[in-house]
Formats: sequence, C-alpha cells, structure tokens
Amino acid sequence: MDTSYNEYKEYRECMDYLDFSNINIFLAYNINVDAIKYYTSGKEIQNLIERYGEDDIIEKYNEYPRKICNPIDYIARLIHAMANGKPAEVPLLDDENLNKWFDNFKYDEERMGGQVGIIANLLSILRTKKVIAYSPILSKKQAEMFVDNDNLVYPSVVDGNLVLKKPIESYKENDPLKINRIFEYKEGIEFKLGPKHIITPIANRFIVASRPDKLRLEIKEDLKEKLPEIGEQIDCAIFSGYQGIKEKYSDGKTYEYYFTKAEEDLDLLRQKNKKIKIHLEFASIQNINLRKNIINRILPKMDCLGMDETEVGNLISTMGYEELGQKIIKDSKMEDVVEASKIIMETYPNLELLQVHTLYYILVMCKKDNPLTTKQLKKILELATILAATKAKLGEISNDSDLFKGLTVPRNKYNELFKSIVDNLQKEEKYKNYKIVATPSRLVDVPKSTVGLGDTISSGAFVGYVSLLKEANKK
Ligand code: AMP
Repeated sequence: MDTSYNEYKEYRECMDYLDFSNINIFLAYNINVDAIKYYTSGKEIQNLIERYGEDDIIEKYNEYPRKICNPIDYIARLIHAMANGKPAEVPLLDDENLNKWFDNFKYDEERMGGQVGIIANLLSILRTKKVIAYSPILSKKQAEMFVDNDNLVYPSVVDGNLVLKKPIESYKENDPLKINRIFEYKEGIEFKLGPKHIITPIANRFIVASRPDKLRLEIKEDLKEKLPEIGEQIDCAIFSGYQGIKEKYSDGKTYEYYFTKAEEDLDLLRQKNKKIKIHLEFASIQNINLRKNIINRILPKMDCLGMDETEVGNLISTMGYEELGQKIIKDSKMEDVVEASKIIMETYPNLELLQVHTLYYILVMCKKDNPLTTKQLKKILELATILAATKAKLGEISNDSDLFKGLTVPRNKYNELFKSIVDNLQKEEKYKNYKIVATPSRLVDVPKSTVGLGDTISSGAFVGYVSLLKEANKK
C-alpha cells in the first residue's frame, strides 16, 4: 500500500470520528480581536533594549512583573517568554497612553481571538449541529470575524424571548472592542541582555491582554434568565475567559462579585438539564487571587478540564503542591503531569475527564469506569493532534478538507517513548482506578502561528468526547 493511500485511509477514519453533527454547544465568555506581530529577528528586540535602557530592563526582568504598566514591563516579560519558549499571557493596564504605545507597533494581521471566538469558528467549520457563542460585548468589527454559517449563533433577548441569530445580525453598535496584542516569535532568534545571550528555543507567543474597564465577565441579566432554556437545548458547554476578571473595577465591584455571578451562570445552565457536560479551559492566569478563585469556585462545578503543561504546573502549585508544580514547569516530565492530574481528579471528584496538552503529547485521564474505551479516547486525541497540526501549518482551519494537511505532518520522534511511559504508569497500583491515554503531537517545524492551538486541541477533544459519549449512551 502506498503512503498516500494510507494517509487517505487515516483521513477518512478521522472524518468518521469527526462527526460533531449530533452536538449542540454553548460557549462563554471571551471574544476579542487578536492583533498579531511576528518577531522574525533579534534586531527588533535589541533595539527595544537599547531604547529603553538595559539596566532598567534587567531590574524589571528580575522583578517579573505580573501586569504590564509601562513599556519596560512589556520588554522584560517578552524577554522572559522568549528565553524559555513557553506560552505566556500578561494583562495590560487599562491606560490610554499605554494603549497608544502598543498601537504604534506595526501588526502583521488581525484576526478572531479569545477562546470563545476561536472555538466557535472551529466548531462551526467542523459541522457541529449548533454553536451558541456568547460574549458580554459584540461590536460590529468583532461580529464580522465570525464565520458566516447557519450553525453559529449569538444569543439575545428580544421582547422577552430568547433569540438565536448569526453574530452579524446581533452586534451592538456602541459596544467596545477588546484587542489583544500577540507577539509571535520564531525558533532561533538571538539577542543580548547584559551578560545573557538569549536564543529562543522554539517558536511560541507572548500575549499582552487588554482589560477594558467596561468589559465585565458576566451574562447580562435578561439573558441570564434564559440560561435554563439554553441549557435544555444543548449537550455541552465550554466556559473560558475567567483570567479576564479584574480584582477591582472603577465602580467598586470586585472579582468576588463576578465569581459569584459566574457560579450562578453554571447553576442556571444546568437547572433544567442535568446531563450537560461542562468543560473549563484553564488558561494562563497571572494573578494568584484569580487563580485561587477559579480553582475553589469554578473548578468544583465542572465535568471536564483542559490545560497546557505550564497551566498544570500553576494549578497544582496553587493547590499547595509547589514542588511538583515547579518540577512540571522545569523538567516537563510526563510522569509528573500524570501525578498532578491524579491529585486534581481526587481533589475534585466532579471531574470526569482531564486533558493536558504539551508540545510533544496530548493526554487524557478519566476514571476506570468511564464508558468510553481506551481505543475511543485515543481516537479523540488523534483527532485533536490533527486539528492542532493543521492549524499550526495553515494558521487557520477554513474547511474540513484542510485536515488532510495536518494528517501529513508526522507524529514526533518520542512516539515510542510516550507509549512505554503510559504503559508503565497504567500498571502502577496508584493508577489502577484510572484510564490514562496519550498520543504524540504532530509537530509542525515552522508553524505559521501558535495562537489558539491549545483551544483547538481542547475543544476538539472535548466535543469528540461528548459526541462519542452520547452515542455510547444510546446503546
Ligand atoms: P496552548 O499553550 O494551550 O496554546 O497549547 C499549545 C499546544 O499546541 C501545545 O501543547 C502543542 O500540543 C500544540 N503545538 C504547539 N506548537 C505546535 C507546532 N509547531 N505544531 C503542532 N502543534 C503544536
């Protein structure tokens, strides 16, 4: 059999598994515009260092600012991100002059951003039956960034009734626009900071996330009343964007207030439909207070959880396992990620599926009695890696035949190693009550872009899971 035939066979198999047409999904809360700048050489970074003063930048670099309040904070955190090659997102102070400073960069492109925005377009293209995507703000420019398909709608309330129409028929003229600035960098970019000679170890990105005071993470009152009705129409939901909550707003409201609202949203959505599966996409959360609130108040209400490796490290550290968290971030060992996953699942028994994606593998852990077989779980992960490789290669997935491009990307060289690690872990007594399944990533050498890859993996894996579960429960 020739290779192209095998690839075609795999493609068909993947497409058979990719049947999302039995799934109705609700997504909240974050949509924004991503303005993307690609750093392709170290010269631009070196110029920034010279312009803003090496000594001041080194001082900030050592301080590790968790919020960007001036250009030097930005340069320091950008250098951190580039030096270790890990994805990072840091909030920006809501300040007009600072925004203007960022507007002065020459951005290479603008596109749909925010987890809800990215996932909504992807799931719509993958022919999900219905995608209901919500964000508290929807400006015209933002609405235009959604794909124009009948299966993708935005919820509104008109004359007291729930109305589901395309985003382009639902935007509000005066709504503000949230723009995140994304700085993508290639592998091998070189520059100097004092005695340090920095070379980016891998292509990745650094996100400067805007936090407009007017944008509140909530479901507006009139729509909130309709959440039980939405709940009756869906099989599952993905909640994301909690990292966008601010500690304090100009009107005195605090994060406590918005977390209470967020808890209510989840309860209302389930009120009339107890079967809904809800997934939390964890995301990079700099503020420790916010992270604690997400862990203590939101996580106990979820069925599924998706994270990258750094996020597992941060989550487990915040849960009190500092040493394990540090180890995960520093050594990137699968055994540590599995150990952390087990601790998370034991602490939060409400979780039935936990998914972790790293550069080299994607892994799920669930309880032994989960109705899906290891083979089915593997297929789901396989699909997720194909989605990621396609997006990494093309930048965007525009239709389902694009996936063929992802399929031609080979699995990375650690394939056999991961297999033996998982086999050995699965034999250990402490994991006897769990199914652990992993698959190696299909790593694109020179990715077009790395933004939204994690969201693509998580949403593909989650919807694949719910879809197979729905079929299994019919039998
Ligand atoms: P996140 O950090 O949540 O956005 O997730 C990024 C994920 O995308 C990684 O864990 C990998 O699984 C995947 N990924 C990153 N870079 C590439 C690449 N060059 N080719 C294919 N997949 C990638």
